[in-house]
Amino acid sequence: MKKEFPYVVGCPVCRDGLLRAFRCGQCQSIAAICDDCESMWADVESVFNDPHQDAQGAFPKCCHCESTKPEWEKLDVDDMAEAGLEPFITDVSA
Ligand SMILES: [Zn+2]
Ligand SMILES: [Zn+2]
Repeated sequence: MKKEFPYVVGCPVCRDGLLRAFRCGQCQSIAAICDDCESMWADVESVFNDPHQDAQGAFPKCCHCESTKPEWEKLDVDDMAEAGLEPFITDVSA
């Protein structure tokens, strides 16, 4: 069975993808990244509360530390809970 990951909201840019939380391997900051068009938002809580704000970047460049190609770790439900981001999970999907 394919592992399911939480998503924050539907993507306001492409309207097809879902925003997933990822941790930058360079600065350890968390960003929301669309699993389809790869648009990036710096703050999970902020884009959850206002999904129609403009994207602040695009994968793979980190919008926090400007690293052009860091390793990105996709957060599962436990990772998001640990980061205090559980309130911003809309649902889980594969
Ligand atoms: Zn998108
Ligand atoms: Zn970074």
